[in-house]
Amino acid sequence: MTDTIFGKIIRREIPASIVYEDDDVLGFKDITPQAPVHVLFIPKHEVIPTLDDLQPAQAHLIGKLALAAAAYARREGFAQDGYRIVMNCRENAGQTVFHIHLHLLAGAPLGHFGA
Ligand code: 5GP
Repeated sequence: MTDTIFGKIIRREIPASIVYEDDDVLGFKDITPQAPVHVLFIPKHEVIPTLDDLQPAQAHLIGKLALAAAAYARREGFAQDGYRIVMNCRENAGQTVFHIHLHLLAGAPLGHFGA
């Protein structure tokens, strides 16, 4: 299993501000937030480097990450205001940590993006 900084966070070997946890998913604040709320949701038991490595039998993991983000938004009271979820895949998207993760961005109007 390829290790990453997120593996160390899962094993509590390095500190992180953990704000969500269930049997399958860990959520913690991004160390370099790009919005007032910026939380990363990761699978706890599988290291899948990129979305492109996801196998059909693992498809449910993406749903679990999304449901965790939605549950967190409801719990924290900003679901009605809205939020964005993002997954970066490889170089052109700026992916830097090769343990699949969902960004949750919220807390202010977010600019449109694309180019
Ligand atoms: P990516 O660009 O790969 O989609 O996102 C990786 C994210 O992980 C970045 O937003 C970066 O700020 C965050 N990150 C990198 N190292 C750490 C760390 O050690 N702790 C936390 N909490 N976030 C990290």
